[in-house]
Amino acid sequence: MADADTFEKKETVTSNLIPLADLLSRSVGNFAPGDSEAKALKDNLPRLEAIVREKLNYTDDAFKAWPVLEEALLELENQLAISGAEGEAFSKDISRLKKSLPKTGALIPFSSNAPVHILAAYLRGQLAVQRKALKLEIEPLIARLKDILAVEREKSPEAKSPDRLHSTLDFADSFLNFEELSSILPAGGSEAMPEDRYRRIEKILETLQGAEALLFGKNAYLIVSYAEAGRLGQDWEKSFPVSAIEIASDGRVCDTAVKIFDALMEKAAELFAAIRIGKLEVESRYIPEIHGDFFIHFDWRRFTDQELSACPPVLLLIEPESLLERELNDFSRMLSSNRPVKALVIRRNLHSGASPGEFAFRQEPGALAIAHRNAYVMQSASVSPEFIFDGFREGIDSPTPAVFHLFLPEDGEGHSGFLSASAAVEGREFPGFVFDSRKGPWWGSRFDIHNNPQPETDWPRHSLAIMDENGKETTLDLFFTYADFAAMDSVSAGQFYLVPPRYWSDDLVLISDYLSLPEEEIYSKVPFIWVVDENDTLQKAAVSWPPALTCRERLDFWRFLQENAGVHSYHVEQATEKLRREIEEETAKKIAALEASHLSEIEKAKEETARSAMEKLAATLLDMDVASNLADSLTPQPVPQARQATATPAAPDTPEVEFVEIPEVKTEEKPKEEALPLGEAWIETPLCTSCNECKDINSRIFAYDANKQAYVADPKGGPFADIVIAAEKCPVKIIHPGAPQNPDEPGLEELIKRAEPYQ
Ligand code: SF4
Repeated sequence: MADADTFEKKETVTSNLIPLADLLSRSVGNFAPGDSEAKALKDNLPRLEAIVREKLNYTDDAFKAWPVLEEALLELENQLAISGAEGEAFSKDISRLKKSLPKTGALIPFSSNAPVHILAAYLRGQLAVQRKALKLEIEPLIARLKDILAVEREKSPEAKSPDRLHSTLDFADSFLNFEELSSILPAGGSEAMPEDRYRRIEKILETLQGAEALLFGKNAYLIVSYAEAGRLGQDWEKSFPVSAIEIASDGRVCDTAVKIFDALMEKAAELFAAIRIGKLEVESRYIPEIHGDFFIHFDWRRFTDQELSACPPVLLLIEPESLLERELNDFSRMLSSNRPVKALVIRRNLHSGASPGEFAFRQEPGALAIAHRNAYVMQSASVSPEFIFDGFREGIDSPTPAVFHLFLPEDGEGHSGFLSASAAVEGREFPGFVFDSRKGPWWGSRFDIHNNPQPETDWPRHSLAIMDENGKETTLDLFFTYADFAAMDSVSAGQFYLVPPRYWSDDLVLISDYLSLPEEEIYSKVPFIWVVDENDTLQKAAVSWPPALTCRERLDFWRFLQENAGVHSYHVEQATEKLRREIEEETAKKIAALEASHLSEIEKAKEETARSAMEKLAATLLDMDVASNLADSLTPQPVPQARQATATPAAPDTPEVEFVEIPEVKTEEKPKEEALPLGEAWIETPLCTSCNECKDINSRIFAYDANKQAYVADPKGGPFADIVIAAEKCPVKIIHPGAPQNPDEPGLEELIKRAEPYQ
């Protein structure tokens, strides 16, 4: 439904075209927002909608909405015949709905001409808004200019003539002598207006008072091709009331539109110049020497957007074949001239251009218009009324030329126009798009392809629920391509061949996959699409060469639109890939550098640790003044008590060495395998890390030397248990417990066992 009355509020204009179901539920919601309110009415809204649809069925026209809705409400009440209290409540809700529904607007049933009716509804509302503002300017201007002339007339000698006095003061006829009065009246006090200014203001007034005839008399000027003229059943005046309609012969449509536009703009220029000069005159700012030349050359190119949008649009309606074959030069010249003529290029045939068995690259009216760069271009099939409505609003209001390329298929044998239009959009046969040259300096910013199914993919992907040969439910993923659209048409059906299942092989490839195959593989494959036969059985239909090529051509055009709209832009993807590679290389370099640096750090740390250990060892050995046997120090051996030299803590410079008594040992008497007896506890001091562990356990037994490395200060300074615990806790395992010094210490047996691993 289109509601012309609310066109005034431009920001809400998109809501003026709404599906009937939405209008009904919104209207009920206005007075019964709760779920339980007006429940019977809400439950029966689909029935009400069905009644309205029935009333509009089989028509191809726009209806005044209110009478149809009122009649349908009455019929609903009669059909349901609800009695009792419920019936009373229902009637009350029906009355409230009547109040809530808009009393203006049109009901437009879906048909191939629905977009034309939408356009007509928009024109009716749109001009009223633009003109209202202009009329509000003109009326006070006329009054002020009249005042100026009236004052001026009062200054003239004729204003004081006996006849004029007599006509003005006739009530004083009995007591005034108008001859004498005229002779004694003083001459005018102020200077008279120059004659040419007076005449100019008179002319402006005359123009402003004739505005209705000059500009406001018509809602639109339609130039209709012969072929298109028959589509509305010659009922153009009814569809476009208060419009001038001219049927133009083939090849003359664009030329006629340009001539009508120029003539109309001449009149509009006269009116707008009069308004502008009039405004200057009332402020006494018009200077002929300055402004005269501007207004001599004043034409539509100097109109403001507001002035231009107050002019009735000049629209031409033509079919694409005629435009491309007979009017291409005129069409191009018209667009290049930047005249804001609006062109409706209406395609009705299912197949455009070449016959079904042939292949040709399409001439796209939309793409041709885009090539002129200055036009507003909208392409859409009849399945998107809101999109079309928005396109009309933008294009008609635009001060640029506009081209609306519409696909309005009619119902055909075995299929509806709506289904054909939907399939054309799905199969990229007729993708929708908008190119708006005013959107910005960047080419990509002017394109919009959002009104297509899955605009980011080559073909829309769908999941089809099917039942396999075992009766099990499953799904089939498939793409809807141009070939699927073409297969719906009986004329093209000869281009598809059912392939019996026994011939199904890997060489039979879905057309969507086939189009992506490399050239060297494509010759050995046969493309197919899925179709359903009269038994609802899925069949593979091989696609012949012409529709397969057209698939590729349609995909090419679709990608042209995608790229322009910024989807899969070649240059963007190239740049992104290059950037990705650069980032990867940079990251790899950084990782390698970090790894190298890390390895070097590890090596350095190792060297540092080894060097430090060696320095400590060397320092200890030097301190002990036993450098003569460095190897022995580096390879600690269990030292038998009899041979052990125990370094007592001493000043680093003068290590004091005390030798204990060595009992004579007859080694030859001992069996070779017998272990040496354990002596006192001892520590591999050069390897001590100075962790404090042993000292914390018993600082009498363990002490640090001058290098802060541990040694056994007094093996009898504490229990054997402390020595064993220290040996266990020493992180570098360099404490050797030796033998217990006190044979009476409790638990010795177990302590000796614990000490064994550290001896
Ligand atoms: S526990 Fe071992 S490393 Fe730690 S201070 Fe004692 S001997 Fe040195």
